[in-house]
This record gives sequence, C-alpha cells and structure tokens, in this order.
Amino acid sequence: MSVVKIFLYPDPILRAKAKEIEDIDERVVRLAEDMAETMYVAPGVGLAAPQVGVSERLIVVDVRYPEGEKELITLINPEILEVEGKVNWEEGCLSLPGIKEQVARAERVLVRGYDLNEKERQIEAEGLLAVALQHEIDHLDGILFIDRISRLKRGIIQRKIRKIMREGPEGGKGDYNLF
Ligand SMILES: [Zn+2]
Repeated sequence: MSVVKIFLYPDPILRAKAKEIEDIDERVVRLAEDMAETMYVAPGVGLAAPQVGVSERLIVVDVRYPEGEKELITLINPEILEVEGKVNWEEGCLSLPGIKEQVARAERVLVRGYDLNEKERQIEAEGLLAVALQHEIDHLDGILFIDRISRLKRGIIQRKIRKIMREGPEGGKGDYNLF
C-alpha cells in the first residue's frame, strides 16, 4: 500500500465521467488499497478514484476513523438506488483544500456496488455516511460539491478558490468533513 497524489481542482480529471470497472483484478485491488491509505493519511472520510488520477468507478469511504475503529467500505461501480429526505451538511473536499460549504443532500440513501471479492453489496446509509457516499459518487460523474450550492455562493467560492490557488489554503487540515 502506498500514499498516492491527490489531484486538485481545477484538474480536468475531476470533471470527467469515470468508466465502469469490468474486471476486479489485482490492479483494481491495489488501486483500492492505495486510495484507502491515501484517505487515512489525508485524513479524509472518503475518496474517489478520479481524485487520485484514475477515471474509473471506485470509491472508498470510512466515516468511523479517526475517532473510532477503522470501518472501510470499498465500492466498485456504485450507484444510488433510492434517496429519502433532505439534509444540509457542511462539506469539504480533499481536491479543494480550504473550501467548506453547506450542501443540500438526501438524508438517507440506498447504494449498490461490488466489493473487492466481486460480491454485490447494498448499503443503507444516513447521516455522514449517506453524505460521503453521495459526495464520492458525484466525483465519478465529474460533479464537485461546489456545483451543488447556490449560484450566489458559488461566485463567492470561485473568488476564494482563486485566492487559495494563488496563496495556498488557510487553516489546518482535518478540521471539517473532507471527502
Ligand atoms: Zn471530494
């Protein structure tokens, strides 16, 4: 396992629609392991393959760590089957350091995907896990959390992003939910 580079906005890979994975081979297993390691070190609670420069449909999520025991979820070709309710959650993104914003999400989701043993998994999630899954699955479709906020706020954030790109992010790492 190794820590790999996280691609930052505005890298075009973050805007591409990621490809379905057809074979869960050794390469995919290694990619998933590297992504998990990178997520834990960042630290973040989720990471999608495009964020490490691979435009394929693979995500890792662990909303328990660093407070609790590790509880890693690896999902290949994940899709959202059902959504319910609405929640506003403060999100940050490992590919957009220094930006955090309230994002409207579904409160509960039912997600289906495959694990590394090619076994189908269905996950019913709420709270942080539901938000993290939605954030990561968005990454696979080239969608960033800043796309899901009001146009007015987006204008303010664009200016902040330009400043961060010039001067670097302000504040510490890991002080909010990073996906
Ligand atoms: Zn993100």
